[in-house]
Amino acid sequence: MKIDHIDLTHVRIPLVEPFRISSGAVSEKDALVVRLSSDGLTGWGESSPMAGSFYSSDTPESCWRELCEKLLPSLAGRLFESLDDAAQCVAAIPASNFAKAGVETALWDLEAQRQNRPLYRLLGGTRSSAESGLAVGLYDDVNDMLRAIERYLADGYKRVKIKIEPGRDIELIRAVRRTFGEIPLFVDANGAYGLRHTGIFQALDEFNLMMFEQPFPGPMLAELAELQRQVRTPVCLDESLESEADLRRAIELGSFRIANIKIQRVGGLRPALRIYEICREHNIPVWVGTMPELGIGCAQGAALATLDHCLFPTDVEASLRWFTDDLTDPLLTVKDGLLNLSEAPGLGYRVDERKLEGYAVATRGFSA
Ligand SMILES: [Mg+2]
Repeated sequence: MKIDHIDLTHVRIPLVEPFRISSGAVSEKDALVVRLSSDGLTGWGESSPMAGSFYSSDTPESCWRELCEKLLPSLAGRLFESLDDAAQCVAAIPASNFAKAGVETALWDLEAQRQNRPLYRLLGGTRSSAESGLAVGLYDDVNDMLRAIERYLADGYKRVKIKIEPGRDIELIRAVRRTFGEIPLFVDANGAYGLRHTGIFQALDEFNLMMFEQPFPGPMLAELAELQRQVRTPVCLDESLESEADLRRAIELGSFRIANIKIQRVGGLRPALRIYEICREHNIPVWVGTMPELGIGCAQGAALATLDHCLFPTDVEASLRWFTDDLTDPLLTVKDGLLNLSEAPGLGYRVDERKLEGYAVATRGFSA
């Protein structure tokens, strides 16, 4: 695998509605798109930190710098023996996981095309579709949240997850249960609570939720283990699981019973597969989360979600759920709650270069 040339494009696409979680809000989607050229093939990747650094400390600007100064200059012109070699090289460069994911995933797209296989098959996926779940952010008015759920449930999404924060939790769940009955449902706190809020989670235990996603901040694994001992509902970790070492410590402490794997958070598909395997060995169900990314990143997430130990619906949703437009052709769609995987080699979606140019706010090229 010879990397002949790399193009990096920072794009910005307006959101359909602002996305609000316990720590902040955005109204535009920023993404850094990596285009690798190798022996006449083109591999696509996406680095997709949230603007405003309220999910993690990573931002589009910090990842742009790492890609331009460290990652892409080290790869342009290089010849690798194998995908594994190239992915190991990316892993060893001192840069954030979000920046690494942009280029590492593009290498997988190239390799899948080289082998003339769809990416999901190269990853070991056995299903040709993935179940999709609906995620809704925080709203000032509960009725707006209920209307959003109603509107999107018509597309058949397989479960609903709602964001919560202190002061906006039990009442939201009560309203959803009252309106929609026993739909598959859970909450994501994005780390907004602490042990002093244990009573709130004990109260939420009564609503038959699938899981409590990231109740406390990422590093609080001991406190999360304490919470898990005091509630029946499984705790799911998202922000806590940045590396294999985090995962092993969380398993040892008993901090959780379900894992959300995000390709961006762990630095690409190779580390994501490693985390998946460890979870499987320990009988911990996993599912695939999103930032959400634009179509390139979401198509990768859908591919990963076809692996057989992904036991809950993914957060990957239709392109037009969050974005007014997307870069892939066709757009990602959800039908009867399913994302159908393409059998085309590689990612399975063409990237519309006219749109890439139209939404670009910055571009850079890298050659040997
Ligand atoms: Mg989450």
